[in-house]
Formats: sequence, C-alpha cells, structure tokens
Amino acid sequence: MTRLKYRCPLFSRKGTTVTPTRTDAAPPRTSASGHDLTPLTGAERERLAAALTPEERRVLLHQGTERPFCGGLLANKEPGAYHCRLCGLPLFKSAAKFESGTGWPSFYEPFDPEHVSVRRDTSHGMVRDEIVCGRCGGHLGHVFEDGPRPTGLRYCLNSASLKFAAEGEARGATSA
Ligand SMILES: [Zn+2]
Repeated sequence: MTRLKYRCPLFSRKGTTVTPTRTDAAPPRTSASGHDLTPLTGAERERLAAALTPEERRVLLHQGTERPFCGGLLANKEPGAYHCRLCGLPLFKSAAKFESGTGWPSFYEPFDPEHVSVRRDTSHGMVRDEIVCGRCGGHLGHVFEDGPRPTGLRYCLNSASLKFAAEGEARGATSA
C-alpha cells in the first residue's frame, strides 16, 4: 500500500522546478571550486559593511572608482589570492594579474567564473560591463575586451574592493 492518493501540485508537472518561497535567507549555493555563494542576508551585509572604511564603502557599495595609480594593490606581485573586501569570496588569483598600464589592478580571468558577475552599466554616458562579487554583489570594477591572452579580457579592479591573502595565509577554508 505505497500508492499515494494525494500528490502535491508543486511537483505534479514533470520538468518544472518550483522554488519554495523564502522570506530572508536565500538557499545555499556552492561554486564549482567549492566556495559558498549563498547570498548575504540584509543583516549580514550590514554587519560586514560596518567594518569598511569610507573609501571602501564608496567603491564597494556605491559603484565608486578609486583614482588610478592610488590603490594599494596595484604593484603587488606576491603569490596569493584577491578576495572580496566585503564578504571574503576569492575573486582573482595572482597568477592572472598583469600590468595593464591603466593604474588599476588588472586580471585576465576570475578565480572561478561564478565568483564574478557582469552587469551592463550605462552610467557616466558610457556603456560598460560592471563586475560585481558573485556572492555579495559588491562593486569591483569593470571588464573590457582588450586584455591579454588566453582570455582577451581585462578585469579592471579597485584595490578598495579587494583584500589580498598571500599564499599559505588563507588556510582552513579548504584543505590543501
Ligand atoms: Zn563579496
């Protein structure tokens, strides 16, 4: 007697995915590289934002741009990873960093494609592709199609959006 008389209408149609409605907390998400992409709740975002400096807030939360050649990570050549200043998600590896001559830290590919999202930006009378953190949505910079091989892309970053972790420093998250 395993036949069920009642079938939930949410699951009755084959191939239809029904996402349950949530109030605040989003469903957990993990990237292919094994990092937590679960969006921040409003409260978490506020708590993390409270630790930012005014310049970091301006850039990360209000689409600001730091002055060229002024960012602290422009000349950094140490091996390691560049994380989101707000939520800590790794965004770029030092191996993909290159000297673009623009005055902003530049990379040719993200740490993981899911970690950096692209949005069309039409502010300041220009059409550009804004890049934001794939987890918290914090503003990072823009991506252009004049980068070096192998991708031909130039991810143009604000140092204020990033937190650098030298190799071997960021232990614990995943076992090496
Ligand atoms: Zn983030």
